[in-house]
Amino acid sequence: MKFPRSHLALIGILSFGLCSFVIAKFNTDPNQDRFSNETVLLEIAEPDAEAHKLIGAPEELPPLPIVETKPKNNWRAVNTEVKPGDNLSTIFKRLNLSPRETYLVSQSKQFGPRLKNIFPGHKMELKINDNNQLMALTYSTGPLDTLEYVRQGDQFVSKQITPEPDRVLAYRHGTIDHSLFVASQRAGLPDSLTMRLAQIFQWDVDFVLDIRPGDSFYVAYEELYLENEFIGYGDILAAEFINQGEQFRAIQYVNADGSSDYYAPNGESMRKAFLRAPVNFSRISSNFNLRRVHPLWKTVRPHRGIDYAAPSGTPILAAGDGRVVRASRTEANGNYIVVQHGEQFVTKYLHLSKFAKGVKRGAKVNQGQTIGYVGATGWATAPHLHYEFLVNGVHKNPRTVSLPDAQPVGQSEMQRFRARTVEYSKLLDNYKNQISVAAAR
Ligand SMILES: [Zn+2]
Repeated sequence: MKFPRSHLALIGILSFGLCSFVIAKFNTDPNQDRFSNETVLLEIAEPDAEAHKLIGAPEELPPLPIVETKPKNNWRAVNTEVKPGDNLSTIFKRLNLSPRETYLVSQSKQFGPRLKNIFPGHKMELKINDNNQLMALTYSTGPLDTLEYVRQGDQFVSKQITPEPDRVLAYRHGTIDHSLFVASQRAGLPDSLTMRLAQIFQWDVDFVLDIRPGDSFYVAYEELYLENEFIGYGDILAAEFINQGEQFRAIQYVNADGSSDYYAPNGESMRKAFLRAPVNFSRISSNFNLRRVHPLWKTVRPHRGIDYAAPSGTPILAAGDGRVVRASRTEANGNYIVVQHGEQFVTKYLHLSKFAKGVKRGAKVNQGQTIGYVGATGWATAPHLHYEFLVNGVHKNPRTVSLPDAQPVGQSEMQRFRARTVEYSKLLDNYKNQISVAAAR
């Protein structure tokens, strides 16, 4: 799912606090109700030094056979790190590799171009033979991304190696004094996941206007580990937000076609088919008003959209899934985009500084996808997005028009969806139980 960014910058504006939080982690296997305050990974035993000694006692080994023939392709492995100011040529030069080697490996079909942008701190391993020829190169940009280049004659074949990390289910709970972000931080939830939490519930909760002291949340999410080392956060799998006593629950579900989205336990999408505002705005500079008297011309000139003031360059998001029917320029509109959503709906975006890559007539866009950037082209005096929302060809106020729901879970998936919902609702319930038991002590 693509996440719109509207409103989110505003979430952090208010000041905050937190009543209580509890941290706990489960084994990833949701059927295994192991509740513990320790992470599961910590249970892995230390290697037993004594046992190793017994196995590896050198006097028990048979004598090594004497190897007479030297292998034809003898090579050595060199480990190095990209230093500030380095490029591939400077690194290869340091290792006495010829410019031809640099050329050949960077010409590698699939991932050769990636070697034109290498970054300080990233690790490289090279295999170099006795003729100072590069046999293989691996370049790691992080624990989950390693590129491998292997010599085949006068060419290099490249591929990407992405190890599958271990996923550990983790839980957080926070109670809000004034703002979600401070509550989340005190609960140990990273900002990136707080953003996602707010994105999931953005259609039900206005995180600027609706938040009240005492609102609370429960989140189940994944932490990723590689060889027992924490490397990052995965997805939110299930979450509950309680706003002014009203409870909202969302479960992540991966559809048969591989797309994933968040749904209420009854199968309805947490999303609407359209974002309310397709830009992260600082203020509304002109409202929808069909009887507006123009301040200069003193005549009735309807304003058929909303003007969202935002700095030049702010991303503009497609309000819903659809197809670009116009990405063009006129004297009045400046750069503008028109998107058709099914039969009934059209959205328009005016005064853009530029279009996003690939956005042109006929292009398919998804909700939340960046389609362009705020500007002041055309008849505009300051950077803003002029946004229009049309239903069956009639302009509606984008702030108040009732938005259709996004697609619910398909009938053919309902059985699998229910199984997952029951499972994850139970996990959240257990977690909430543990917290209330702990609070009662
Ligand atoms: Zn306008």
